[in-house]
Amino acid sequence: MSNSRVDAPVRIAVVGLGKVARDQHLPALLADGRFTLVATVSPEAGGVGDVAHFASLEAVLERGPVLDAVALCTPPQVRHGLAARAIAAGLHVLLEKPPGATLAEVEGLRSQAARAGTTVFAAWHSRFASGVAPAREWLTGRAVRSVAIVWREDVRTWHPGQDWIWEPGGLGVFDPGINALSMATAILPGPIVVAAARLVVPVNRAAPIAAELGLRSADGIPITMDLDWRPTGPQTWDIRVETDDGLLLLARGGASLSLPHAATAHFEDHEYPQLYARFHELIRRGDSDVDIAPFRLVADAFLLGRREATEAFVD
Ligand code: NAP
Repeated sequence: MSNSRVDAPVRIAVVGLGKVARDQHLPALLADGRFTLVATVSPEAGGVGDVAHFASLEAVLERGPVLDAVALCTPPQVRHGLAARAIAAGLHVLLEKPPGATLAEVEGLRSQAARAGTTVFAAWHSRFASGVAPAREWLTGRAVRSVAIVWREDVRTWHPGQDWIWEPGGLGVFDPGINALSMATAILPGPIVVAAARLVVPVNRAAPIAAELGLRSADGIPITMDLDWRPTGPQTWDIRVETDDGLLLLARGGASLSLPHAATAHFEDHEYPQLYARFHELIRRGDSDVDIAPFRLVADAFLLGRREATEAFVD
């Protein structure tokens, strides 16, 4: 943003008009006066209302309205190419999670943005769940004994027809699992390391449908992680932290928080409005925020994981 536009709304394009763009990014942006949605980009999908719509990032850069920023809401496999092109065009970039398909390409974007003087934001939306900040605060100064992460959801309900999620770079069950890791790395003292992993992969797919991880924090606290995409009954997105002062339970993906001797707090969902507030703050300050800790744990699980084949998955 030039200095003359320092107080003007950030002119942004949303790239990749799929589920998360329509459910979260567009409503958050349209409600935030610090941004103006000037374009959308998607190869197949139609646009929204009278917002200018293009089939590719290249097309909006060549023929579209002037932009300050893009939000990349595509599958991760194409994120790096789009982000590198946007930074080269002098734009600020919000990366949906996971921030790319490999660690090296995300590191590369961080360096490229620093050289170009633009902002890049690896947006871990679950860190903006309302229970995360109070959980981190409550844990400060308390001794953690063990942690159990349980993330069990029905893939057919949450990811119908998303073939990219099963392909290399799509992460499989770690697509939701990385949300849990983004919260765990935000509330627990780090660094956390992967000690062992078991990856259950359908014979007709490249990515796991279930996984069990053994992790530990720097001071040796055991952390277990149980990820499964097969449950069709109750859905579970829980982080249980046993402390010397009782149990902290961050449930419903961070939307509920239970602490000892207190009623469970249930929060409204403000993740994406908070995420865009953070992106705006970074742009104003001329900073970037690219924390790869959750992504590195997934990469390490893939490095260390013992693979077991399971029955074919048919959507
Ligand atoms: P999705 O529904 O499959 O949508 C992805 C969209 O990306 C598609 O609509 C596709 O557009 C577009 N696309 C693909 N290649 C493109 C390219 N080269 N340029 C521009 N657009 C391109 O996937 P999603 O569920 O929204 O997930 C997208 C990302 O957000 C993933 O990384 C996911 O982990 C993350 N996320 C998803 C959710 C969720 O609730 N689903 C929540 C948080 C984060 P066309 O249809 O036009 O081909």
